Amino acid sequence: MDREEPLTVICTVVAIDPTSFCYRVCSVCDKTLPDKGPSLCQFCNMKGFIAGSSDFERLYRVLLSVATENKVFVVICFDRAARVLFGCSADEFFEFSKLNPLSAVAAGKVLEGEMFQMTLSKPKNGNAQYLRVVSVFPLRSDFSPAINTLKKLYGVGGSSS
Ligand SMILES: [Zn+2]
Repeated sequence: MDREEPLTVICTVVAIDPTSFCYRVCSVCDKTLPDKGPSLCQFCNMKGFIAGSSDFERLYRVLLSVATENKVFVVICFDRAARVLFGCSADEFFEFSKLNPLSAVAAGKVLEGEMFQMTLSKPKNGNAQYLRVVSVFPLRSDFSPAINTLKKLYGVGGSSS
């Protein structure tokens, strides 16, 4: 069980934790910022900050419960993999969820039951408790990322006349 190479599994999404799906990083140095309070970065003091741009950006950090054929467990999904599930950047999803408050919950519902091939790796940091999703591929050929379904649900973003 203590092999280090990534593990590829076929799994079904059981649930998504809607309470915290993203975190903030400094737009200059990419260091993690606290969730609350000023976004002025303590690491770089925003040296090199381009006026008019955003001083931070959001990246996904999503906890997913997934089921394989013999167990259910929690994995953590960071930005690159989470974009496959959500279909947009964390910033876009955050803005969307401000206008449509239950979006994160709805995204969980939308993705529930979807099957994926996931490559999982053990956390490099010994304190981290969850397997990390390295890559994720939807198994359904007509899989639609959560944001597409949500936009249809909420009737927004349709550019078709
Ligand atoms: Zn910084």
